Amino acid sequence: MFSFWEKQQYLGKYDVIIIGSGFTGLCAGITLLKSQPALRVAIIESAIIGTLASSRNAGFMCYGSPSELGTDIGNQSTANSLAMIRAKHKGMKLLLQFAGKRNIQFKKVAAYELLDKTAPATTAALEHIDALNGLFQEAIGIPQYFSQTTKPHFADGFQDAIAFAYEGQLNPAATVYALTQLFRNLGGIHLNATTAQGLEKSEGHFEVPTNLGTLQSKQVIVATNAFTSALIPSSQIQPKRAQVLLTSPIAKMPYLGNFHMDFGYVYFRNVGNRLLLGGARNTNFESENSAKPELNPLIQSVLDTLLVKLLPHQNYTIEDRWAGIMGFDVKNRPQVRVLDSNLLLVAGMNGMGTALGPALGYEAANILLSDRFTGHKAMRIKAFL
Ligand SMILES: Cc1cc2nc3c(=O)[nH]c(=O)nc-3n(C[C@H](O)[C@H](O)[C@H](O)COP(=O)(O)OP(=O)(O)OC[C@H]3O[C@@H](n4cnc5c(N)ncnc54)[C@H](O)[C@@H]3O)c2cc1C
Repeated sequence: MFSFWEKQQYLGKYDVIIIGSGFTGLCAGITLLKSQPALRVAIIESAIIGTLASSRNAGFMCYGSPSELGTDIGNQSTANSLAMIRAKHKGMKLLLQFAGKRNIQFKKVAAYELLDKTAPATTAALEHIDALNGLFQEAIGIPQYFSQTTKPHFADGFQDAIAFAYEGQLNPAATVYALTQLFRNLGGIHLNATTAQGLEKSEGHFEVPTNLGTLQSKQVIVATNAFTSALIPSSQIQPKRAQVLLTSPIAKMPYLGNFHMDFGYVYFRNVGNRLLLGGARNTNFESENSAKPELNPLIQSVLDTLLVKLLPHQNYTIEDRWAGIMGFDVKNRPQVRVLDSNLLLVAGMNGMGTALGPALGYEAANILLSDRFTGHKAMRIKAFL
């Protein structure tokens, strides 16, 4: 039961409802209100605190590793590869601008892909390094983003690496918090523990039934990433689980910065003097095609084994483990789609949403604000084809 005042404040009619409060939805909401402060905009989020990906991710602000990007450039046109690098670059800048570097504990850090001589990822990485450097130069003006190195000596078996020009580290929950605060300060209504149970088109508006009651809005942006198919089955976004672990403080932390391995499926970084290690869903794709944010002991034991190799002579315990859910587009390309007049979908960040989410949320908001938002047919926005 809600009071008259609460109904007026939270359950009245909106100009725009954004479903999903990760980096994508929040940046869409902020963009809308920065441009049109008089709009009544709500963001609804089913998680009680935070989100199911953005606030529980590993906190890498990155373009991807050479073995991962090398595989991608083999599967898409040069124009698309350039568009993706540019979108990530733009998303990084937007996120820092909106959330503020200090608020999110942002650090520019060294980054590497570690090369195991016998692994297929090593061949793929080395094969594509020149082509990738050409693309990065053209897209963002950095001449040699990736360079081969033997300088850092990590644990045995991990001495060869490709060094990146830079990457970023941030605190994901602090980032969601900072974006939420900005959205609220701009006049947005933000509701956690609120789930959209459907989406119904009515005359001149959408009805969004939720556990709080039915909300009405002229326009809707669906930014639910992994969970998009429940609301928009034609999106064909697939959920994929990601899991991480975090060690206790380590006396002599050998790894400062961001580290990638194995086509981007494995990643680790320092969190102060702790080590965060995550990924390995490639060791059991089937079980990890899951929308349940639960730990899988099989994947965790793969991470445990790797951790022992990475930190052979160190004393530590594993203090935390958690899981979150990523959204993948079937063609591995993020979607910004006008589905109907006044209904927009932005999802499929493919495990790269720290950079992509803000860029695509911004793009979605600008489509909604522009005259282009009149289409009745599903379409993908050209830059992200
Ligand atoms: C463990 C882990 C580590 C990762 N590490 C990195 C990394 O280091 N760097 C990187 O770039 N990316 C990383 N990712 C991926 C990244 O977190 C995502 O790509 C990004 O957060 C997606 O942002 P989003 O806003 O599109 O989606 P989300 O953050 O998933 O937000 C969508 C929200 O919609 C909500 N929702 C869904 N359905 C409904 C509904 N019906 N009603 C209301 N709300 C709903 C969900 O609860 C969810 O919180 C990682 C992901 C995980 C899980």
